[in-house]
Amino acid sequence: MTYDLVIVGGGIWGSAAAQAAVRAGVRSVLLLEANIGLAQESSAKSGGILTDLLWHPEDQDFVERSRTLFAEAREHSGDVSVAQRVGLLSLAEGEHVASLERRTADLKARGIPFELLDRQEITRRYPRLDRLRQDTVALWTPNDWHLNPTAYAQQATAEAREAGLTLRTQSRVDGIRLTSGKVFVQAGGETYEGERLLIAAGTWTRKLVRLAGLDLALLPYRVQLSSLELAESHRLPMVWHLSTDVYMVPDGEKDVLAGDGTRLSEFDPDDYQTSGDDQFEEEIAERLLMVSSLGERAGLRSSWAGLVGATPDRRPLLGRLAERLYVACGDNGIGVMRGPALGELAAKVALELAEAPHLNPGRFRPEPFAIRPGFTLE
Ligand SMILES: Cc1cc2nc3c(=O)[nH]c(=O)nc-3n(C[C@H](O)[C@H](O)[C@H](O)COP(=O)(O)OP(=O)(O)OC[C@H]3O[C@@H](n4cnc5c(N)ncnc54)[C@H](O)[C@@H]3O)c2cc1C
Repeated sequence: MTYDLVIVGGGIWGSAAAQAAVRAGVRSVLLLEANIGLAQESSAKSGGILTDLLWHPEDQDFVERSRTLFAEAREHSGDVSVAQRVGLLSLAEGEHVASLERRTADLKARGIPFELLDRQEITRRYPRLDRLRQDTVALWTPNDWHLNPTAYAQQATAEAREAGLTLRTQSRVDGIRLTSGKVFVQAGGETYEGERLLIAAGTWTRKLVRLAGLDLALLPYRVQLSSLELAESHRLPMVWHLSTDVYMVPDGEKDVLAGDGTRLSEFDPDDYQTSGDDQFEEEIAERLLMVSSLGERAGLRSSWAGLVGATPDRRPLLGRLAERLYVACGDNGIGVMRGPALGELAAKVALELAEAPHLNPGRFRPEPFAIRPGFTLE
């Protein structure tokens, strides 16, 4: 049979794309995923932060659309972990205070609730943040969410399967052939035929387009996260400390996920260290100590690393790369919070139901470039 749309990659972007294609009424959609289950790579390794504090206005729109899709998935699945309103406390001192304050005009204009807090008020609300410098200022954004991308991907594809999506897991694509009439995709010893192909395989997307003799300006870089057991209950919201770029996400009453450890150089998605570095493990509790004495007795449960995809302008690569071939990648480290919206847009562009020429994946030559972090206020 010939599928109307073949999608490669069952992370949060590919799962959202599959759901959107089926919702758009496409008759036959095939989703191919290399792993045994959905969203087990970067999507599963993420901190799960969703925030309106993004530097690019269009990303703020993607977050807004994603909120709607996450909320629907939470409602349909009955799984509250899909999206929880936890709030984010962004802490800054010295030169970083101005960047926080600059964001307030934008939040106000968009009607997003926020508060600016001085150190006294921060510690009144969160006594466990007992190591803050005198000049610390916080931006409190109560509407920011914590997400469970795997639960979202499962719900999105479950709905799509009921409406006719074909899902093949354990199907690693290792061959792509484009002809003027069809596209042929090889995976797990099978050859699948499609009218169009959408590759949404995260940091593997470049390797996959190379199977078709093409290339992309996408550089995978490595991001680390740890699970810390704190000696006592903490009652903290999500916390982002701008000066050290450490962020913490509550994970139960006594645990937090804590991350930084971004390595801004290129890594191979098939060959990189998936556990945290020794140095990262040694330093993460110390960095926590810059904001809270909870770091003194923090125990490391585990640490891991995943890859995210950098692009030269830190914007997604989304759209048509060649006849019948579309891609969606370039998450720049903030791809879970925008994943449902970007997956949906990618499916619509591949089906010619929407246009996003400014995200055209061929807008850069596939040449080396300096990797810059995407999760930043600047
Ligand atoms: C430590 C860490 C913390 C992060 N924290 C956050 C955060 O707090 N908030 C946020 O918004 N983002 C965060 N991110 C970024 C976020 O995880 C990614 O942007 C997002 O997961 C990208 O989703 P994706 O679907 O594009 O990629 P992935 O989830 O990697 O999915 C790609 C899929 O393609 C499949 N695939 C690859 N090759 C093939 C093949 N040949 N054949 C078939 N299938 C294939 C893979 O198995 C995988 O399932 C974080 C990332 C890391 C690593």
